[in-house]
Amino acid sequence: MRDGNCIFCKIANGEIPSATVFEDEDFRVILDLGPASKGHALILPKHHFKDLCEADPAVAAKILPLAGKVGQAMIKELRASGFNVVQNNGASAGQTVFHLHVHVIPRYDGGPLMVSWVPGGATAEELAETAEAIRRGI
Ligand code: AMP
Ligand code: ZN
Repeated sequence: MRDGNCIFCKIANGEIPSATVFEDEDFRVILDLGPASKGHALILPKHHFKDLCEADPAVAAKILPLAGKVGQAMIKELRASGFNVVQNNGASAGQTVFHLHVHVIPRYDGGPLMVSWVPGGATAEELAETAEAIRRGI
């Protein structure tokens, strides 16, 4: 399925040119236009899913192995020393393009700190109550 108004549908299916680093029947992997670091890539499924909640599980299951392959290529060919795999769902989580995509962001020694948060705190009761709520929904 494709959404005629979706820019990532057009890029993933080759209607709009992109700096492509990988393509197969399910995905196109492109370079982000506003890279967080050199080589920042986006894994785009060719089918339109708004986010991870809507994704076909068979397609979603292929994403992490592909992210690993792309990250390894960044280490080998760009001399990155590591990489982050980031995937945003919903505006509150920072999603700005509502076509499922996964960021693979190479990291370099001495580069800026990214993808981090200030650890909070929670009591054992709070953790148990929250865990129970999520368990109910799965
Ligand atoms: P997110 O905030 O997770 O929705 O990420 C959207 C990402 O898409 C951002 O990092 C943008 O820089 C990137 N982006 C938006 N439009 C394009 C485009 N036409 N080509 C490549 N990357 C894009
Ligand atoms: Zn789309």
